[in-house]
Amino acid sequence: MTTTGDTDDARVDEILSRLKGSSGRLTTGRRAIVQALLAAGDHHLNADELAAAVQAQHPHIHLSTVYRTLDALEVAGVLDRMALGTGGAVYHFTDHVHHHLVCKDCGAVVDIPPDLVSSLTGELQRRFGYDLDQARLAVSGRCERCRAALPTTSTSR
Ligand SMILES: [Zn+2]
Ligand SMILES: [Zn+2]
Repeated sequence: MTTTGDTDDARVDEILSRLKGSSGRLTTGRRAIVQALLAAGDHHLNADELAAAVQAQHPHIHLSTVYRTLDALEVAGVLDRMALGTGGAVYHFTDHVHHHLVCKDCGAVVDIPPDLVSSLTGELQRRFGYDLDQARLAVSGRCERCRAALPTTSTSR
């Protein structure tokens, strides 16, 4: 795993500053966890996968610290958690707005930009007075690869 640059360090500090009651050893653990989250980028990791990533770098950090920190980050509004595919709930930074296409066959998740659903958002508001969440829409379907693997009943050429 590569080390993080200055920008990421600033971001880690900013995120940690939003957590109350940081001190000494606790901060070291939290910092490692936030770094693992940032390193994961667009990969959608669940709590167990994040814990494994943290422990690979910092074997001394307890699992309970990882889970407690994830909870604290969620309470602080830094992270949110959603069920995606088959791997259990995954974490997102709340300021990373995007939606998801989830393949029901292989579980692959594709991130799509929010502007792709902006017409739907507007229409739902206009017709139903419904305010769609800005982030974390998950649409179920079948990905390109799985579609290609399907036996075709029609005669295709
Ligand atoms: Zn698929
Ligand atoms: Zn996502």
